[in-house]
Amino acid sequence: MNIRSKLPNTGTTIFTIMSQMAKDEGAINLSQGFPGFDADPQLLDLVSKYLKKGVNQYAPMSGIEQLRVSLAEKTAHCYGYLPDFQHEITITSGATEALYAAISTVLRSGDEALILEPAYDSYEAAVILNGGIPIHIPLKEKDFSVDWDRVRSSVSFKTKLMIINSPHNPTGYVWTAEDLKQLAELIRERNIFIVSDEVYEHITFDGRQHLSLLSTEELRQKTFVCGSFGKTFHVTGWKVGYCIAPEALSKEFRKVHQFITFSTVTPIQYALAEYLANPIHYESLASFYESKRNLFLEGIKQTDLKFSATQGSFFQTVSYGHLSEIGDQKLAERMCKKLKVACIPVSSFYHDGRDNQILRFCFAKQEAELEEALNRLHRLGEIL
Ligand code: PMP
Ligand code: GLN
Repeated sequence: MNIRSKLPNTGTTIFTIMSQMAKDEGAINLSQGFPGFDADPQLLDLVSKYLKKGVNQYAPMSGIEQLRVSLAEKTAHCYGYLPDFQHEITITSGATEALYAAISTVLRSGDEALILEPAYDSYEAAVILNGGIPIHIPLKEKDFSVDWDRVRSSVSFKTKLMIINSPHNPTGYVWTAEDLKQLAELIRERNIFIVSDEVYEHITFDGRQHLSLLSTEELRQKTFVCGSFGKTFHVTGWKVGYCIAPEALSKEFRKVHQFITFSTVTPIQYALAEYLANPIHYESLASFYESKRNLFLEGIKQTDLKFSATQGSFFQTVSYGHLSEIGDQKLAERMCKKLKVACIPVSSFYHDGRDNQILRFCFAKQEAELEEALNRLHRLGEIL
């Protein structure tokens, strides 16, 4: 039997490749984005409590009511909008599922989807698997802000969807009020939906605020906001996320969601519902990660790498084009094998592998691990 690939240009994700290489080489893994420390023991205790309480059968398709209520209240607290927990919130198996289901909900064969690059790898695959056509728009090279003129000129009568992500993986760019204004103008009078990936919503630095698309009435009407508890509570392995969208959109979204996974792990939903009720559990996240970012940057300053301090997320990009001509994939591999520090080459976030000689490091690690990685990076000159 010959199988015709639906994703002929896709290989194993770079996150899997680099994490495996880090393991094989015994390197410090600053590649794949996951915390190098455990969740709050209080949250872990809550999971044990609910596991033992016997809530171990299927959850309702849209998620348990308590979690949807807690999430609605959190949304009101953070963004001034109280979603209707009955009709506008669906709990998903990670943000990855929320993104896939949202994209699948709106795209038909031949529809175009705008993707800003560099982009998280799941967007393009989800568009293609649903018969859509990805239209790639590069972010500005200088600061990774959105080139709105390019966006406007990429819109056609076939444009059905725009996928956006703030705080941005891998660059850390955080959308401004002006970005939201430009987006609103772009889609006003047009039948374009938005999928807004906000998984790093609570990780913004230097006094910046995350501007959720839920915070404006006009944008909210056309948007699927996708989030993840994995990022916020240091539990990426639990794969619990959500989608918030207006009732008519959520109704269609749920039809898709119910046949991707039907429902999401039950006892963890109960634990999250209780834990989420206390705002301190997410409001402390920005300063927690800001000190890790600062520690990482103090060390990077002592190398010849160029950077601007990341505005959000738990990633820092650095560029090295002024030091060497070596490609980013090759340098990442050499760094892992010789310096024993793993990172992600940013060319993997471009559909055409465009290499701007930029590397991405995840600083969601314990201080001692970050310090040891920095000591090793100080020997970068030896491998360039
Ligand atoms: N979007 C972005 C931008 C991400 O970095 C990630 C990383 N994990 C996801 C979505 C997926 O989130 P989840 O693990 O909840 O599926
Ligand atoms: N979001 C994580 C990152 O950007 C990776 C998640 C994954 O491995 N798919 O590193």
